[in-house]
Amino acid sequence: MEPVPDFAISSRRVVTPEGENPAAILIRGEKILDVVSLQNIPDGCPTEDLGNDVVMPGLVDAHVHINEPGRTDWEGFETATKAAASGGITTLVDMPLNCIPVTTTVDALHQKTSSIREKLWIDCGFYGGLIPDNLKDIEPLAEAGVLGFKAFMSHSGIDEFPKVAESHLRKALSILINKAIPVLVHAELENSVETSNSHQTYESFQATRPKSWENNAIKLLIKLCREYETHIHIVHLSSSDILPEISQTRDEGLPLTVETCPHYLHFASERISDGDTRFKCSPPIWGSDNREKLWVGLEKGTIDFITSDHSPCTPELKKLDTGDFQMAWGGISSIQFTLPVIWTECRQRGFSLVQLTNWLSKRPAKFIGKGQQKGQIAPGYDADLVCWNPEAEFLVEQTAIHHKHKLTPYEGESLFGAVNKTFLRGQKVFDNGSFVGLPHGKIVMGNHGT
Ligand SMILES: [Zn+2]
Repeated sequence: MEPVPDFAISSRRVVTPEGENPAAILIRGEKILDVVSLQNIPDGCPTEDLGNDVVMPGLVDAHVHINEPGRTDWEGFETATKAAASGGITTLVDMPLNCIPVTTTVDALHQKTSSIREKLWIDCGFYGGLIPDNLKDIEPLAEAGVLGFKAFMSHSGIDEFPKVAESHLRKALSILINKAIPVLVHAELENSVETSNSHQTYESFQATRPKSWENNAIKLLIKLCREYETHIHIVHLSSSDILPEISQTRDEGLPLTVETCPHYLHFASERISDGDTRFKCSPPIWGSDNREKLWVGLEKGTIDFITSDHSPCTPELKKLDTGDFQMAWGGISSIQFTLPVIWTECRQRGFSLVQLTNWLSKRPAKFIGKGQQKGQIAPGYDADLVCWNPEAEFLVEQTAIHHKHKLTPYEGESLFGAVNKTFLRGQKVFDNGSFVGLPHGKIVMGNHGT
């Protein structure tokens, strides 16, 4: 006998790998059983019709800093995953720094996973940290289920998470050869820079982290990728200068992948006011010409996907009172707004919902090794769905922000795309401004996990 769906979700705009069509998604338990035309919904199947709302696979955010345990006053799993669910994200991957202890050993990973039980509104995976003295921990962390290893080529901002040198990267890559697990690198190579006495303008901040830092770091990573043929991933690409070299490397078939972030695709540095440290992030945001080239990189596939790089802190650490870019914490708080920010930009440029889905769901799911389980509306996939109205325009206001702290450079922005409902593995978790039921997010284990 054919398996019977528990219920169906229908809409005139369902985004599947084949395109955007009127369809019904048949759901049984946690999975998508089938996607059928509206005429073929089985008799008697309870159906939630969402009219003209877009129904897309839930977003997969492969780069988030949550800070728990240890710095939960900055951000915690409950608030971050609530904000994520309200923004249509159904899976996220947490970075190994900013929490205490940093996730550089299996013991630290277990401390994290045991401290967050029953706090997850969406599914969460974890990266392990790669620092100079934990090469012995790489294989045990991979076996414990981390989805990748994160390393910094410049100071991370966290003293317990020191940067690596080329020699450490070489050793790590030789350990990871033939393992389908990426090394994610914060690509900035520090070099001497001119310092000025004033730290009030965004230009003065850019001068402390010039594009050459990122360009030089990526050149070195390309060299290592060519030598080891092991998966290297560049996080939060900011400089468009280096896109031709990245494109050439990918044309050679080498395992290099790249992400960029909403703040590099939406803001332009010439419009940032003096002293507005909400915009401080590393690498810095550049001008509108750079932003447009990043969009071309996405369109051509040189950049694989988009992550939030949600990197919150307490408001005091942003030093808005003094407007001192040198003293302010670098990081942008934004996880809730990836979908409307990117859609607002896509809309202006004529990009389709299928492209949007590739950048926000399908490719990041593949990157974390879950391309057969998440990131697509197709039979057998997790029933992770976001239902949203692309025509609805709204103003970002603090009262609707679910991050622990409301300080974000998106406040006051007018965006298109309101998330109405989010489903996690077949269960509604967010419904028109309210959270539904109890948090039932799961921990996403890597394929090397046991
Ligand atoms: Zn980050």
